[in-house]
Amino acid sequence: MPSHTQQSAVTVLGLGPMGRALAGAFLDAGLAVTVWNRTPGRDLELAGRGASSAPSPEAAVAASPLTVLCVVNYDAADAIVRRDAVAAALKGRTLVNLSADTPGRARDTAAWAAGHGVGYLDGAIMTPTGTIGTPAAVFLHSGPADLYDEHRPVLEALGGAHTHLGSDIGRAASYDIALLDLFWTAAAGYAHALAVARAEGVTARELAPFAKNIAAILPAVIESGVAEVETGRFSGEGNPMTSAASSMRHIVQAAEAHGIDSGVMRAAEGLVRRAIGRGHGADGFLRVTDLLNPVSANG
Ligand code: NDP
Repeated sequence: MPSHTQQSAVTVLGLGPMGRALAGAFLDAGLAVTVWNRTPGRDLELAGRGASSAPSPEAAVAASPLTVLCVVNYDAADAIVRRDAVAAALKGRTLVNLSADTPGRARDTAAWAAGHGVGYLDGAIMTPTGTIGTPAAVFLHSGPADLYDEHRPVLEALGGAHTHLGSDIGRAASYDIALLDLFWTAAAGYAHALAVARAEGVTARELAPFAKNIAAILPAVIESGVAEVETGRFSGEGNPMTSAASSMRHIVQAAEAHGIDSGVMRAAEGLVRRAIGRGHGADGFLRVTDLLNPVSANG
């Protein structure tokens, strides 16, 4: 319930690049915003646009019924909110944690919040700062549906697509981890490809149109992967694992001939060779998914 001390619709704790983008989007949407950051000075531009700068995190959370927290990880989040004064100020209000970390940390923070009478939603931001406040932004949320519905209008002021993934508080972080796993391994592959190409005298500009074509294959791989994981049948028709292993070996050989570290590709090749060793040489590459889950590593 709003108290007489409240003067804003939403508080933003954490004014790194993302926190500043969130606070700026709330301001652009016409909301009264209170901000706080550990290191002073990051609030200046926002204050110039009308945000109220709070002198402490407890004063900041007391200013609004809803607080959005966006810092580097949950160690930083804990350092801010898990203090008596802040917990007391948050009691009866709602905290939405858009910091990134593991599903386990999200569940731990939810348990802390429940123990302190704090409404808690967890979330993940899946797009860069430049998208915030635009239709291109993507937000994932998890936690109690009634709490999400109550604060949805303010959260939607951030623009973009907001998806509530259910009441399991760890679900947004689970999606975040899985999607960032895909992103960072793909980005690591691109960095390696650039290094190998450069060593062979091929520029990034020359490679780019063909690299984009390779990346454009991924959506179809993702779509067919759904059916393969659901049925447990990984078709290697057209590209069996034995062929993938040969292709990966060539990449390792070509890279290492130039002294380029090939740890990522060696790891992928290792998985493929294990799958072949278990008799899956005729299957498609995504069969290695089963090797990665210990409970289903049956064969
Ligand atoms: P950072 O991940 O670098 O986070 C910076 C913020 O964390 C600053 O407010 C910083 O405060 C604060 N912080 C760090 N350590 C502590 C601490 N011990 N105690 C208190 N505050 C601390 O930058 P971003 O703003 O870009 O990211 C914030 C979150 O958003 C991250 O979890 C990130 O993964 C996520 N995200 C970011 C995206 C992006 O494009 N930037 C995209 C999607 C998600 P101080 O200024 O005092 O150092």
